[in-house]
Amino acid sequence: MKGHIMPPSALVIDDDVDIQLLGKMLLSRHGFDVATAGCLGELARKPALLNTHLIVLDFGLGDFTGLDILDYLYDLKINAPILLLSSCSDETAAHAIAEGNAKGLKMLGFLPKAKLMTGLSDVIEQIEASPKPPSVGELAQAIKQQHITLALQPKMSLTTGAVVGAEALVRWEDPTRGTIYPDSFIPLAERSGLMVPLTWNILDLSFAQLAKWHAQGLTLSIAVNVPAEFIKAENMLSMFDTLCSKYPIDMTKVTLELTESVGVECLGYARHVLDELRKRGCKLALDDFGTGYSSLTQLYRLPFDELKIDRSFVSLIDSEPSAQAITLSIVELGARLGMSVVAEGIENAEQQALLAKARCPVGQGYFISRPLSPALFDEWVSHQTTIVKRA
Ligand code: C2E
Ligand code: MG
Ligand code: MG
Repeated sequence: MKGHIMPPSALVIDDDVDIQLLGKMLLSRHGFDVATAGCLGELARKPALLNTHLIVLDFGLGDFTGLDILDYLYDLKINAPILLLSSCSDETAAHAIAEGNAKGLKMLGFLPKAKLMTGLSDVIEQIEASPKPPSVGELAQAIKQQHITLALQPKMSLTTGAVVGAEALVRWEDPTRGTIYPDSFIPLAERSGLMVPLTWNILDLSFAQLAKWHAQGLTLSIAVNVPAEFIKAENMLSMFDTLCSKYPIDMTKVTLELTESVGVECLGYARHVLDELRKRGCKLALDDFGTGYSSLTQLYRLPFDELKIDRSFVSLIDSEPSAQAITLSIVELGARLGMSVVAEGIENAEQQALLAKARCPVGQGYFISRPLSPALFDEWVSHQTTIVKRA
């Protein structure tokens, strides 16, 4: 395949050894480094096999159906394109493709096994024409070479219109591909153990930004997304203290945004770490509130200061009465619990007005501003009529 420094890799998953060998031979001819697996157990024992540029998947695999396998690939947040190889009916294969696409998997289509010899080249041409998904090695390099940057999305008081801070959203500036968005590499980082080093990198950049604002006399806060693995990582608290000592920052201006998965496993330990972070002054926000099944339980089990209403509710507040009822109830719930509430994903004036009327304290969304580079953020802040308080 063109454009790759390392040979691209492919994985053929089939319990039929003849198909494994044929697939391997055909893909090797196209320059792929090919691995094979015969069953789900083999994949579970060797998950590294799934760090690949292409998956060729048999629809029936021993005791499992194609749909079970797609579920497994979805649970592992597999990013590679998946070609379904089927000897099943066109209708069954089309159903599996639709299910995979609905889950967000990259389904390339399906190839009847009988056409494997002739049809595979077309599929490979199709892959070559599409942009290459990033690999684990490239992400590790990007972290080392400081190609990780922040986009800052303003958070605004819906009462006064003043900018209160920004959410730091990670971007990967790749010299050849351009800007890569988190949805295209966070799952890769999660699968490959790179989430913790990546989060240190993001925190470092965020603290540097906060120190810069402080030096400019801007009393803004910064919100950083922090995954569960990071909270549970070894020596996290002592490393956090070391990082904090690098910058002259007010820790009460740091918000750590967590999703509900933080409390799911090892709640006792997570609670200890979160309490320690709060002792240092950090605020804790529960991100994407309302999308998980255990949101309400997490609210009293873990010490959150802020609720972020998921944009799936906010985006419908002006058109769906039920979304409006849920959103407004969350605003009231936050107020009763003494928590700050941030509505994210505000896209128009009507949504903003409804939230302001319901006394939602803070808003964030494209209507206020899209995420901006740090330079554009500074410029945006300087043009706001309701100016941020200067120290
Ligand atoms: P999130 O933390 O819920 O971040 C908000 C996402 O919603 C951002 O997408 C933002 O650009 C987008 N957004 C903001 N306002 C609007 C709006 O009005 N309409 C629409 N349609 N979208 C809006 P982004 O930057 O692509 O980030 C997506 C997700 O990736 C984040 O969701 C977060 O879960 C994850 N992520 C981003 N940065 C980081 C990071 O630094 N660390 C970690 N662990 N995850 C991150
Ligand atoms: Mg967030
Ligand atoms: Mg969110």
